[in-house]
Amino acid sequence: MTLFLRHSSYFILSSLLLASCNQKKEVEAKKNEQTVIEMNDSSSISKTAEDAPRHQTTKTRLVILGTIQDAGSPQITCKKSCCEGLFEDPDQRRKVVSLGLIDALNNTTYLFEATPDIGSQVKKLTQLETNSESEMVDGIFLTHAHMGHYTGLMYLGKEAMDAKNTPVYAMPRMKSFLENNGPWSQLLVRENIHINALRSDSSVQLSNGLKVTPFLVPHRDEFSETVGYKIEGPNKSALFIPDIDKWEKWSKDIVTEIRKVDYAFLDATFFDAKELNNRDISQIPHPFIIESLEKFGDLNKIDKQKVIFIHFNHTNPVIDRTSKAYKLTTLKGFRIAQINEQFEL
Ligand SMILES: [Zn+2]
Ligand SMILES: [Zn+2]
Ligand SMILES: [Zn+2]
Repeated sequence: MTLFLRHSSYFILSSLLLASCNQKKEVEAKKNEQTVIEMNDSSSISKTAEDAPRHQTTKTRLVILGTIQDAGSPQITCKKSCCEGLFEDPDQRRKVVSLGLIDALNNTTYLFEATPDIGSQVKKLTQLETNSESEMVDGIFLTHAHMGHYTGLMYLGKEAMDAKNTPVYAMPRMKSFLENNGPWSQLLVRENIHINALRSDSSVQLSNGLKVTPFLVPHRDEFSETVGYKIEGPNKSALFIPDIDKWEKWSKDIVTEIRKVDYAFLDATFFDAKELNNRDISQIPHPFIIESLEKFGDLNKIDKQKVIFIHFNHTNPVIDRTSKAYKLTTLKGFRIAQINEQFEL
């Protein structure tokens, strides 16, 4: 401190501000501390972030920043019990589906998806990365052009933070959609974002031992193709497939792909047909949880624990941890994504 006093008052003020900012960040980070769940620790695997003992980590890891389908919860105009009371008193745990990636080697952060909840998600992710002062992520990976997965980019524009060349990773059709349609094209004209073109099955090396690989999946591709991601860290790897039509329509075998990774965050939009007034589930282009439970039934106990269901429609009963659906899914050895859970890579 004596050293600081010899310098100009501006320097002292900025140092103090920085120190208080650092302190604030540390306090906030402590508040937000969540549990990292080790896949090889079977004693903690079935626990949620809230149940398990808490500790801090500085390792490269993923964090769940949102678990809900594109339109959020409560969903506009919903009068059913799923959204009762939530318009007046929102549940802060219900954010649109997103994963955060913290690269401990470079003290950088990446978002998977730019959701309508991007503001609080960027805040959470940058708070967890305690070694950097940056308030903004270092890159955003997009899966496809459906409203929950990219429209958060609007908050990078002139009316909001007016970002400076935030790297956005996108597949060719997604890139061209953003380049050729307003208001997204304005983000490029103003250099709020810079698009890094992805190629299916071609990896982006983020740092030594950390890479991200997009792969095509079948989905309603009106404006863009749809990808899932494989995220490979120094020790562990994850699959992220928030939206896909039925598993059977994919060229790869999902069961084999689950076995190859340590975590699999998978589309679980609907639990069963009751949510859709008992419509024929074979005609709804998402794998229902009850279909996935059957398909993944032959996995061994360890492999079942890798499956973390995510992307829940507002009607999905598994959002409620006291529901029969939640209990059935977890009793069978699978997991329901919980916001703020962290996973070492
Ligand atoms: Zn979606
Ligand atoms: Zn609802
Ligand atoms: Zn979609």
